[in-house]
Amino acid sequence: MENINYCNCCAVKYEAMDAFCNACGFPLQGTKQEQDFYISERNVKEIELIDLDEKVERARRSLYWISGLTLFSLVFVVFKPSPDEDVSFLVITTLILSTAFLGLAVWGKTRTSTALISGLSLYLIIHILNAILDPRTILSGIIVKVVIIVYLVKGIKSVIEREKIKKELNLI
Ligand SMILES: [Zn+2]
Repeated sequence: MENINYCNCCAVKYEAMDAFCNACGFPLQGTKQEQDFYISERNVKEIELIDLDEKVERARRSLYWISGLTLFSLVFVVFKPSPDEDVSFLVITTLILSTAFLGLAVWGKTRTSTALISGLSLYLIIHILNAILDPRTILSGIIVKVVIIVYLVKGIKSVIEREKIKKELNLI
């Protein structure tokens, strides 16, 4: 009968000759101290991962906020001081944008990093274009704009960090 060994850390089978677990990297032939150290390091990373998951989720949900704020900005478009101006183009593009951000928020449930990066790019492109077409738009709602950009950038950073830790934990 062949002796079957299971990793102390992740419970995956290993061969008696293996120095490290193929699944999690646990030092199978290491001293008790090395093994304990490995497990405590891993626990720290797992806690970090939970924290990062929350940060990423919050960033994803901010895409709903962007969608809502974009829709809300229609109030200023429709009630412009110069009523003669044709705003139909602006109304249509605003509606499309709001829908796009809503779509990214939903899509982000499965492809978070791509959705956040697309969201940030889309947001920057619109506001740069707006600023070129009408420089007066630069300052309107500047605080909201900065907050949204910072939030999305932080979210993307958390996604990158999360991927790194997942790799270190051999989760991907
Ligand atoms: Zn293992």
